[in-house]
Amino acid sequence: MYDVTKYASQQPFIHLQTAFNRFFQGSSRYPQFKKKGHHDSFYIGNDHIKLDGKMIKLPKLGWVKMREALRFSGKVISATVSRVAKRWFVSLNVELFQSPKSCDSQVGVGVDLGIKALATISNGETYEAPKPLKQFLKKLKRMQRSLSRRVKGSHNRHKLRLKIASIHAKITNIRKDSLHKLTTYLTDNFVGIVIENLNVKGMLSNHKLSRAIADLSWYAFRRQLEYKSKYKGNYLLIADRWFPSSKNCSNCGQKKDQLKLSERIYHCSACGHEQDRDLNAAINLKNLLYQSG
Ligand SMILES: [Zn+2]
Repeated sequence: MYDVTKYASQQPFIHLQTAFNRFFQGSSRYPQFKKKGHHDSFYIGNDHIKLDGKMIKLPKLGWVKMREALRFSGKVISATVSRVAKRWFVSLNVELFQSPKSCDSQVGVGVDLGIKALATISNGETYEAPKPLKQFLKKLKRMQRSLSRRVKGSHNRHKLRLKIASIHAKITNIRKDSLHKLTTYLTDNFVGIVIENLNVKGMLSNHKLSRAIADLSWYAFRRQLEYKSKYKGNYLLIADRWFPSSKNCSNCGQKKDQLKLSERIYHCSACGHEQDRDLNAAINLKNLLYQSG
């Protein structure tokens, strides 16, 4: 008890309470135990940390250098130190005052997340998925195959696992970075934003790995949009789970019974409207904004 901060013994119970509340609400799975080496993170309250530019003082460790200084000014509430692959991170919880939104283009926008293009926006813009991703995915696949051939418990296997973990972290970071740029752009420039409820395309794609990453990035995308619009004062609308954004014609509203994944151009048999499939979906999402008032 005396060797660690008071948070090391208090905070786990607070987290456990939250975890059980979420479990009973049905929004999470039954809480899992933390495992050393797998989920290395700990919480520290603001009375035990000090910040000075790029330096942070942590209990037992003393002053530690950070990669960058804190970008927000406000009261620091707490810090969480965690490990991803070989790197350690500190995330700081800061209390901010809401800044009023200054917006030049007071328009709504629909966003369709995809795999080929990261996102298609209803105004016709597309955001490309970051390129290095493909190359890392290939590498990852190769390493995972090689991992299965190595002897369990061996030193070589352990070494490879660490390598795989850092590539995973790299992919996540690249993806996260482009998502942050996208969600910042959206929340800075549009008042109303409409997105799909689920990354349907990610689910339909049969490639397991890219699917997992696409799903993860969809949740990250939604989470980022949620907190950024709260902070910047945007209106975020999440379409109904069953809203057929891809199947409807954005011109006349006619709904197709079937739309193959291979059909990249939407062709309406009722009005003859032809449009890129993802753009058509994005416009349908945007139109929801005006239907919902
Ligand atoms: Zn039509």
